[in-house]
Amino acid sequence: RAKQDGRNTFRFFEPAMDAALQRRRRLEHDLRNAIRKHQLYLDYQPQFGLSHGDLTGYEALVRWWHPVEGEIPPSTFLPIAEETGLIVPLGEWILKTACTYALGWPPETKLAVNLSPAQFKTQDVYALVRRVLMETGLEPERLELEITEGTILQNTDAVIETLTKLDQLGVSIAMDDFGTGYSSLSYLTRFPVKKIKIDRSFIDTLGSNPQTSAIVSSIVGLGQSLDVTITAEGVETEGQAAMLKHWGCDQVQGYYYGRPEAEVPSDPLEDIPLDAAEVA
Ligand code: C2E
Ligand code: MG
Ligand code: MG
Ligand code: MG
Repeated sequence: RAKQDGRNTFRFFEPAMDAALQRRRRLEHDLRNAIRKHQLYLDYQPQFGLSHGDLTGYEALVRWWHPVEGEIPPSTFLPIAEETGLIVPLGEWILKTACTYALGWPPETKLAVNLSPAQFKTQDVYALVRRVLMETGLEPERLELEITEGTILQNTDAVIETLTKLDQLGVSIAMDDFGTGYSSLSYLTRFPVKKIKIDRSFIDTLGSNPQTSAIVSSIVGLGQSLDVTITAEGVETEGQAAMLKHWGCDQVQGYYYGRPEAEVPSDPLEDIPLDAAEVA
């Protein structure tokens, strides 16, 4: 487009691309030191059982507070971490920090941690998880690892082996952002997947788009026949919650129930929100 608009636009455009590249280099440099400088922290977002409104666990979500730019979203810095290999020390820090924090929760409260495809590509994820569980003392049964279809597609056999060993260790596997990738269904029979998280984009349009309603209710039905827990992500309204409950969705996570927060209440069980569907 810049070319079509002529040389002036092109010349105007160039410094802007340069600035973006420079910012990226700067962020990469700063990210290298961010852990050591205590600029990274984790938020924890609660997950609830939909039929009884009971708190089931929290998902750890990484945050970067940059001294100059302020909060930088994971969608900006995670790709940089993945391309540069920084995801390895970063991922280890996330896992260790979250497992340590979860030790302070009631024993039945689960911890969900996201793993990126790059971690499976560059390290032995099974060895990492096993070591962190031993170092922290968190029971494997309390840890749930969230992976995406991207992870499965990149090196299917090696990933199957890793996930199977994790499953045997007692750690459970959740399929994150379900419905956004492809070939998802065939993998469900080959992986020890205990949970499917329906992507927020489907929950967003529940009510306004009859097709997403059909898709979401079908995924819930699929979960029931495969005996896989179904969690809806990004639940923001009472109406969405009521539909999900009506279909028999197992768990919910979203701003309607609780935002990601740096501190988990010391007695999280007292913080159960009003059961949405009862009100609706
Ligand atoms: P995700 O794992 O699907 O996490 C859910 C995202 O949706 C989070 O965004 C969360 O803050 C946001 N969210 C939750 N409820 C609602 C809602 O009701 N409405 C809306 N609009 N958004 C909601 P966040 O924290 O920006 O993270 C984005 C993605 O970055 C995550 O998606 C995950 O893929 C990745 N990520 C975050 N933390 C980590 C981490 O520690 N390690 C790895 N590998 N990836 C992470
Ligand atoms: Mg997730
Ligand atoms: Mg997700
Ligand atoms: Mg998502």
